[in-house]
Amino acid sequence: MTGANKGIGRAVAGRLAELGMTVVVGARDPEKGAEAVAEINAAGGTAHPIGLDVTDQRGVSAAAEQIADRFGRLDVLVNNAGIAGDLAAQAPGSAHLDGLRAVFETNLFGVVTVTEAMLPLLRRSAAARIVNVSSGTASMGWTTDATHYLSRMPGSLGYPVSKAALNMLTVQYAKALSREGILVNAVAPGACDTDFAKGLPFQLTRTAAEGAAIVVRLATLGRECPTGGFFDDNGRLPW
Ligand code: NDP
Repeated sequence: MTGANKGIGRAVAGRLAELGMTVVVGARDPEKGAEAVAEINAAGGTAHPIGLDVTDQRGVSAAAEQIADRFGRLDVLVNNAGIAGDLAAQAPGSAHLDGLRAVFETNLFGVVTVTEAMLPLLRRSAAARIVNVSSGTASMGWTTDATHYLSRMPGSLGYPVSKAALNMLTVQYAKALSREGILVNAVAPGACDTDFAKGLPFQLTRTAAEGAAIVVRLATLGRECPTGGFFDDNGRLPW
């Protein structure tokens, strides 16, 4: 999984390890990845670090090769790494393309890079699935619903747009991969108080573990697991 060294990703990695899965902890900073792995293994889990910056295509290919050499296959890919980016650069009326591009590089193109690199490994699994960590801010249904709090959030041309695109990416991969039995879903972890929240103009109240729950659920559901959907703890979300 990507961005597994802290926040929601770290909580997902810990929980998947508790459930008995061997977890490959992707982190762009090898030291941070090694720390997370040491903690998970000390708690009785099985985790392995892998250097993985989702914006570094060559590095991602190298990570896929390492996983192939060591494990031979991948059962679950969690595309969790994401950034809020420079909020001022995303404001309608004063947006900067460089700021928008930076958000899309990680939140959208990073997911494409990692997914394309890992697909050959997922194809070797008997029950492969991909979980894309999206956001409630990506929901057009919520954002255009005058009664929903998201409709009152300040406008942004970056983060919510990148996650809405990630949702469509999820649907497109789900369609393309359904015949091969690879399940692909997007999830919204809810407003979690992680480093991601630093600098946001509002308080995020959920814990990383609470946000991780829906990711873990979609990563571990058996035959009843859906594909091509967008979910939070309460079920399907409006696109
Ligand atoms: P954090 O900032 O705590 O963690 C983000 C993780 O992503 C870190 O491990 C970070 O690594 C990693 N990351 C960032 N850029 C890259 C990159 N280029 N390559 C690899 N890893 C990268 O945030 P959260 O845990 O809160 O966020 C996790 C996901 O959940 C994100 O996709 C976010 O958009 C989504 N989300 C979060 C919400 C919240 O309220 N917190 C709400 C809705 C969605 P590093 O430590 O090196 O920076």
